[in-house]
Amino acid sequence: MVSADRVCKNFGALQVLTGVTLDVQRGEVACLIGPSGSGKSTFLRCVNHLEKVNAGRLLVDGDLIGYRERDGKLHEMSPRDAARQRRDIGMVFQHFNLFPHRTALENIIEAPVLVGGKSKEQATERALDLLSQVGLRAKADAYPAQLSGGQQQRVAIARALSMDPKLMLFDEPTSALDPELVGDVLAVMRTLASEGMTMVVVTHEMGFAREVADQLVFMDGGVVVEKGDPREVLSNPQESRTQEFLSKLL
Ligand code: ATP
Ligand code: MG
Repeated sequence: MVSADRVCKNFGALQVLTGVTLDVQRGEVACLIGPSGSGKSTFLRCVNHLEKVNAGRLLVDGDLIGYRERDGKLHEMSPRDAARQRRDIGMVFQHFNLFPHRTALENIIEAPVLVGGKSKEQATERALDLLSQVGLRAKADAYPAQLSGGQQQRVAIARALSMDPKLMLFDEPTSALDPELVGDVLAVMRTLASEGMTMVVVTHEMGFAREVADQLVFMDGGVVVEKGDPREVLSNPQESRTQEFLSKLL
């Protein structure tokens, strides 16, 4: 579903991704870990086309992200095509990013109605189902400020799911939450994973990674240093940089 081959990204002179190679199969969950500044968020943002890759190839479901191949050359994609690609990819951020002046329900139906071409009735029906799935059916009419951080994050997940994405990206979805609210969000993610959603999750929740991830990917300095079965990587890291990072974490 995601295939990254030596993906590079720089911001001016700053080389942030210096050749990320990574494959995530359909239905797989990959957890991404690594020190601050190692490029985890930047990689997710490239997958979702919020940032443009400078070199290397990044494919989602066989589609080259951001570029069209024509006459053997790569041409930058039109904003419209880019938006279409992004529509199939759900993203959940650390800070929820809900629209503050819209209710939970209104947050969820926005994209399906405006971008997905659904009627308000259709979108509402689906949104209420999604709210039930994340355990918040009763909060449909609440505004973000009336919800806990964990509830807001679950609304954000429901919102991302409302476009029926084929891939879900999570960037530290629980790191802004009080510890007692983390469990409910992870439970929703766990269910999603068990239903076969393909997910790339930046997280330092090692319990989640160990139990849910099919692969654990350690990034440092803009490359993938080590990846593999999470239990293997956690208990028996091969690279010294991984060992050092994990020893600080656990
Ligand atoms: P953290 O764990 O702190 O979230 P990260 O692994 O997600 O870190 P990134 O956010 O991907 O790291 O950032 C990697 C590097 O890229 C950092 O040095 C950051 O300052 C830089 N960077 C990220 N976005 C931009 C930008 N838009 N312009 C310039 N530099 C950026
Ligand atoms: Mg980050």
